[in-house]
Amino acid sequence: MAVYNGPLCRVCRSQGKKLFLKGDRCYTKKCPLERGRGIPGQKQIVLHFNKATDYKHHLQEKQKVKSIYGVLERQFRRYFGIAIRQKEIPTGDKLLEILERRLDNVVFRMGFAPNRKTAKQLVSHGHILVNSKKVDIPSYITNKNDTIEIKEGSRQIPIIKESLEARSVFSPWVEVNKEAFNGTIVTLPNIPELALGINPTLIVELYSK
Ligand code: SF4
Repeated sequence: MAVYNGPLCRVCRSQGKKLFLKGDRCYTKKCPLERGRGIPGQKQIVLHFNKATDYKHHLQEKQKVKSIYGVLERQFRRYFGIAIRQKEIPTGDKLLEILERRLDNVVFRMGFAPNRKTAKQLVSHGHILVNSKKVDIPSYITNKNDTIEIKEGSRQIPIIKESLEARSVFSPWVEVNKEAFNGTIVTLPNIPELALGINPTLIVELYSK
């Protein structure tokens, strides 16, 4: 399946929900959903399409998570397979934990990029070091105590500098040193505490049907 490279707002509009795909910019009044623009190609002005069937509701939650993290079905199913095999925490929470630990997401969470799409590009283009070694795989799963760093020669890239300057609040599971362009994963993400606005139980139920 091809990667979706179209307008990000279109994905939110098609689902009728704010998915915050543009990161920091989604909190401004420029968000089309804030201005009442609904499904692309239709004149309806709706934010939530609540006439969905139960199955559709479950499916929408999965699509929402895939869109947020920029993950395709095959990879998503693989993460689900890992999550369901462990017994430490609920499957849905483990699934979200794995997604949060993806390197592109961590780069976004540390403020090195304004959104996950840009973060993915920064990783793929080799601007990111993990524990002092270049890692250019966006799906790389990070671990507790890993240090994520912008390569020295990449620290003047405007989008990195601007994003870091604009970010003042960070996820509680990462610590960031803005001056040194690096950050550390101090603990694994605790999903219930993060209030991601996602109901992972719906996804687990969908795959269990
Ligand atoms: Fe979605 Fe952000 Fe675009 Fe709003 S601004 S529609 S939340 S990507």
